[in-house]
Amino acid sequence: MTTYTERSWTRLYSKGLPADITQDYATMLDLFNASVTRAPDNVAIKYFDGVLTMADLDVRSDALAVALIDNGFAAGDMLGVYAQNNPAFVISLVAAWKAGGAAVAINPMNKHRELAYQLTDSGATALLCLDDLYESVAKEVIATGVTAVRIVITFSPLDEQSRNDERLFAGVERLRPEGTLDLKEIFSRYDGRKPAPVDPGSDDLAVLCYTSGTTGVPKGAMSTHGTMAFNSQTYRDWMGFTEDDSVLGVAPLFHITGLIGHVGIALLAACPLVINHRFAPGVVIDAIREHRPTFTVGAITVFISLSGMEGVTKQDWSSFRVIYSGGAPIAPVVTDRFMEKTGLYIHNIYGLTETNSPSHAVPLGRVAPVDPTSGALSVGVPVFNTVVRIIDEQGKELPVGEVGEFVTSGPQVIPGYWNKPEATAEDLPDGELRTGDVGFMDEDGWFYLVDRKKDMINAAGYKVWPREVEDVLYGHPAVREAAVVGVLDEYRGETVKAYVSLRPGATVTEQEMIEFCKQQMAAYKYPRSIQFVDDLPKTATGKILRRELRGSNS
Ligand code: AMP
Repeated sequence: MTTYTERSWTRLYSKGLPADITQDYATMLDLFNASVTRAPDNVAIKYFDGVLTMADLDVRSDALAVALIDNGFAAGDMLGVYAQNNPAFVISLVAAWKAGGAAVAINPMNKHRELAYQLTDSGATALLCLDDLYESVAKEVIATGVTAVRIVITFSPLDEQSRNDERLFAGVERLRPEGTLDLKEIFSRYDGRKPAPVDPGSDDLAVLCYTSGTTGVPKGAMSTHGTMAFNSQTYRDWMGFTEDDSVLGVAPLFHITGLIGHVGIALLAACPLVINHRFAPGVVIDAIREHRPTFTVGAITVFISLSGMEGVTKQDWSSFRVIYSGGAPIAPVVTDRFMEKTGLYIHNIYGLTETNSPSHAVPLGRVAPVDPTSGALSVGVPVFNTVVRIIDEQGKELPVGEVGEFVTSGPQVIPGYWNKPEATAEDLPDGELRTGDVGFMDEDGWFYLVDRKKDMINAAGYKVWPREVEDVLYGHPAVREAAVVGVLDEYRGETVKAYVSLRPGATVTEQEMIEFCKQQMAAYKYPRSIQFVDDLPKTATGKILRRELRGSNS
C-alpha cells in the first residue's frame, strides 16, 4: 500500500469509514437477481407518472432476453443501446446480461459517423433504440451494411408513462418503423417467458462505454460485471444508502456516472430511480417536487441550472439527504451559492469512465478543503480498496504535496479497451490506470486536481477530444490546417474553439464551417467559434502547438 492512500485512510477514513469493503456481488446479474428476490415489490423506476417495480423489470428483461435469443442473439453478443434516460435503457442492460451478452451504451446525441463507428468497433449484433433516433440516424447507418447489426428493436419515449409532458413531447408520436421489432410488442408477446439461466463471471464484459482519447479514435472501455458491481457498492456504502433512498437521474445513463451512480446503485439498493427522458430543468424540478428523491449525482452545470430557476425554494430541495457532483471541476463559490439557496452541500466526486465512476469522493458529511494556491476544491480521498499514486514524467512516485499524474488501481478499474491492446498497454500498464489528470495530495490525505496532461476539453462534463474535431475539420475542402482547443466558458466551464488556416484561394465563413461540423458530431462537440489564421503555431518539427493556442485564450 502506498503512502498516499494510507494517509487518507489514517487521517480521514478513521473518522467513520473503513479502508476496505468486501464486495457483496460478483456480477451485476447476481446483484440484480438478489434485489428482485429480496424486494420484488419495491419501486425500481419512476418515469413521469409511470412506475415499474423490481419484479416488472425482471419480467420485462426476461421477455426482451428471450426475444433477442429467438432472433439470433448468441452468448457473447453485444446489444447497442441508443436511448435517453428511458426505462428501456435499464431493461435492455439486464436483458443483454440475461441473454448471455453485454450492452454498448451509446450517447443519443451521436450522429451517423459516431454511431457507425461504435457499432462496427464493438461488433454489436443487435440495437435497441428510440424510434426517432432510428428514423433520423440509425436506419441509414444500418442500411450501409457496415455494421453487424441483425436485430433492431425500437421503442417510444412515450412508452411506460401516460403524461406526455408537453415540454418534452409536444408533437411526438409513437412511431412504428418498418423492418424493426417493437419493444412494447415484445413485452406482450414474450410475457412470462424466461431465458435459460446464464452465469457470467466477474471478469466478463457487462457494458462497453466509448471514450475518446489523444488519437481521436474512441475506445470501448470494458466495464466488467465485477468492476460495475464493486463501484455500485461503493456508492451504497460510502453514502449510507438503504432502500428508503431514491435516486434522481440527472446524469445521462449512457455515461458512467449515470450507469453506476444511478442505475447500479438503484438496482443494488432496490430503490426508485427517477428518470425523465432527457435533462430539461423545469421537468426535473417538477420530478423533484413529485417524487421527493433523496440522492443525486451529476455535473455541476446541472446544479447551477436547477438552483438558478425562478420559483425554486429550499423546500423543493428538502427531500435530499445527500448530493454529489462529478465529471468536471467545481468552483468553490458554486458550492457556497448552492448551499445558500438549497441548504445542501455538494460533495465532490471524481473518477473516469475507466474507473466506473468514483476513484475519489468526499466522505459523506465532510466539507472538502480548498487549495489556497490553485483555488481548487479537493476531489476527496480514494474510495474503498483503491490505491492512488502520484507520479512524475519519469514514473517516479512523488512525495506528499508535489504535483504529478494520478495513477489509480482498484477493483473498479477496467481491465482494458475493447480490441485495443496497444491503448490498453499504454493507459493501463500492469492494470494501473494512467488518468492523465494532474494534481497532488495534501498532508491530510485530500487530493486536488490542478491540471491535465491530456488535451481533453471538458464542456460541462462532456469530454471533447480535439483530435476528433480536427479530423472532421480536415474533411472540409477549404481547410489547410486545423487545431482545436478548449477555451473558458462561464457556464460550461470550457467550450470548443477551432483555429483554422485555409487552402490558398479558398473562402468559407465561420458559420458555414460550424454548420459543417455540427452535422457530423454530437452537439456538445462542435466548435462554438472558429478563428481563421494564416498559419498555426508549430514546433521545429512541424507539430501543431495546441498548448500555445490554448494559452492565448486564458
Ligand atoms: P469521463 O471519462 O467522461 O468520466 O471523464 C473523466 C474525466 O473527467 C477525468 O479524467 C477528469 O479530467 C474529469 N473529472 C471527473 N470528475 C471530476 C471532478 N470531480 N473534478 C474535476 N474533473 C473531473
